[in-house]
Amino acid sequence: MSIIENVRVKLAKSTGFCIGVKRAVELVLRIADEHRGKKIFTLGPLIHNPQTIAMLEEKGIGVLRSPDEAEPNSIVVIRSHGARPQDIEKLISRGAEIFDATCPKVALVHKIVKKFSSQGYATIVIGDPDHAEVIGIMGEAVGDVVAVNSPDEIDKLPNWNKVLVVAQTTMDYRTFDRIVAKIKEKYKNVIVRNTLCSETSFRQDEVEKLSEDCDAFVVVGGRNSANTKRLDKLASETGKPTFWVETAAELKPEDFAGIDCVAVVAGASTPHWIIDNVVDRLEAINRKFAPPWKWHWV
Ligand code: SF4
Repeated sequence: MSIIENVRVKLAKSTGFCIGVKRAVELVLRIADEHRGKKIFTLGPLIHNPQTIAMLEEKGIGVLRSPDEAEPNSIVVIRSHGARPQDIEKLISRGAEIFDATCPKVALVHKIVKKFSSQGYATIVIGDPDHAEVIGIMGEAVGDVVAVNSPDEIDKLPNWNKVLVVAQTTMDYRTFDRIVAKIKEKYKNVIVRNTLCSETSFRQDEVEKLSEDCDAFVVVGGRNSANTKRLDKLASETGKPTFWVETAAELKPEDFAGIDCVAVVAGASTPHWIIDNVVDRLEAINRKFAPPWKWHWV
């Protein structure tokens, strides 16, 4: 944990892009550099961070909302969330050249679902049914497949003979455990593959540790980022005041009056420069609200 002693801002150890996002951003930037003159798109926003998307737009990298929008001879990059095989086939049929930046951890979930569903297993994906990663994973299933978000949904599922359980990689592991327990109550023949990503589990654990020392949380990340949303939920559940911001500009000094220590956590798609700006701004806010005896420290 990096502790900025004088101003009592604690920055979580694991911040900034996760390995999968870093790899995807680097790949797209390299493609843009090596294929000048070609039209380059990502299938959906590369990452759930508006500031990074704006930076990519400036470099001429566009976003396809659907494979139907692909242009012949263009380059389409599959983002770290992965994509449905049907969508990739569609892109190819429209004449696009594909570069795959699917995170290897997500690609592994695709492989597991493909293997077991072709053996007759019904697939339960624990995750948000509307999230791109879950949609991509579900697209691999040959037979029955469903995405569930809470234990209450399990009772309503059909009585399948054999069931495969996987998870959206960024799922909160406590919810995952609760849903798996419920699935095991209902089904006898269950294979569970814990596909949670340690990058996000570690960030979630840090929230609990930081809550022991800090009076408030600042969660940094895109409003459309699922893993940032989970961090915000976990931080709020500690009972400490929690402020979710996309950039430093959203921080309000009055929110931090009387607060001695602020923990800063960030989603896996939040760039370091945004986190640094937030920490800088918090330091400034703290100076403003610190009691006089602290002034000689800053
Ligand atoms: S959170 Fe994990 S699984 Fe998701 S992109 Fe990052 S490294 Fe890959």
